[in-house]
Amino acid sequence: NVLKKTDLHASLKKHFGFSEFKGLQEGVVTSLLEGNNTFAIMPTGGGKSLCYQLPALMKEGTAIVVSPLIALMKNQVDAIRGISDQFGIAHVLNSSLTKTEVRQVKQDIRDGITKLLYVAPESLTKEEYIEFLQSVELSFVAVDEAHCISEWGHDFRPEYRNLRNIVNRLNENIAIIALTATATPKVQEDIIKNLGITDATTFKASFNRPNLFYEVRPKTANVDSDIIRFVKKNTGKSGIIYCLSRKRVEELAQVLQVNGVSAVPYHAGFDAKTRSKYQDMFLMEDVDVVVATIAFGMGIDKPDVRFVIHHDIPKSIESYYQETGRAGRDDGEGHCLAFYAYKDIEKLEKFMSNKPVAEQEIGNALLQEVVAYAETSMSRRKFMLHYFGEEFDDVNGDGADMDDNTRNPKEKQEARENVIK
Ligand code: ADP
Ligand code: MG
Repeated sequence: NVLKKTDLHASLKKHFGFSEFKGLQEGVVTSLLEGNNTFAIMPTGGGKSLCYQLPALMKEGTAIVVSPLIALMKNQVDAIRGISDQFGIAHVLNSSLTKTEVRQVKQDIRDGITKLLYVAPESLTKEEYIEFLQSVELSFVAVDEAHCISEWGHDFRPEYRNLRNIVNRLNENIAIIALTATATPKVQEDIIKNLGITDATTFKASFNRPNLFYEVRPKTANVDSDIIRFVKKNTGKSGIIYCLSRKRVEELAQVLQVNGVSAVPYHAGFDAKTRSKYQDMFLMEDVDVVVATIAFGMGIDKPDVRFVIHHDIPKSIESYYQETGRAGRDDGEGHCLAFYAYKDIEKLEKFMSNKPVAEQEIGNALLQEVVAYAETSMSRRKFMLHYFGEEFDDVNGDGADMDDNTRNPKEKQEARENVIK
């Protein structure tokens, strides 16, 4: 069956109300509809869900969607139910369901109502589920957040390693689509190898964020004053300040408050009520600044975050990219400022010292890249994109002058000083 472009757009409009595909979506959707193994690498917010949701809605049978977090699955299922008048169009299958609920899910799948079945990888190891899924018509398997398969990713889940075996038991010829926002070539290789999709058609979007300005400053004893000065210059703008420890989060939030900056702290040590209160204060703009550990940010969608400051350098370029990526979602300005001292790298190394050797080796390799980024005199954007396997033209590329090193090259500064003399 040859798929017509107009049919595809009609389905997009019918199911999601969108008139156009975003970025690489059309190619990905087409590849999957044609039954190819497919690999989609797109930044957060790039619209990966639709890449498997639309084909699932268009195809016969049920698509299995593997996703690591119950909260993520629930959101997606609710969203899909919201665009359909069939409650059973999407289901979650996991250990929290009652026997009656499981029976209903199975019935809806058998009746051909369920187009998307979200499962956690550990649920897929249950013999009862495997046997059931062997007996029904499946359209394809989507592995969302596929970087969880790799120890080089930021969220390794051993259960993801077993997916290929399980898929083989369901139907070894079924198409697989893997999706991730992790752009590093190492992680990508792991995904392809572990899922056994060496033949996959790969779609990789650019990870360049032209509107973000990248800057690294040396971290001194005056770092708090430096931050206060920066934030005060940006009064009325929203910003996130990341710290490594909960203690530092609370201290810095207090220092800012004492200095007349409206700020709230955020970390996983606060109870859920307090966390959501502070988060809402930031989202509703009752305060300008949230001082947070990395617990803050996942799934938070505030489009006009104008700066992201790292009081402590993160443990990988990948984390830095994700955390700074929360700035300038609206394509407006976004200043990404990291304070760097080698001492902090040693601190991070020490944190890892009680971990298994293999994990330490990976952690240290990732840290060395962070050191290289912080200490480089080349375009930070070029450095970061190169790390993601992307060549960036630092003269004519989009956002080419948006970093400290490009704006103020070291040689040029010296040359200017010579002229003044
Ligand atoms: P990702 O998983 O890549 O981080 P999502 O799938 O959560 O991204 O999508 C991000 C946002 O983009 C969602 O709000 C979604 O509704 C929106 N979106 C996806 N596809 C389109 C499209 N074709 N046109 C407009 N908005 C889209
Ligand atoms: Mg997603």
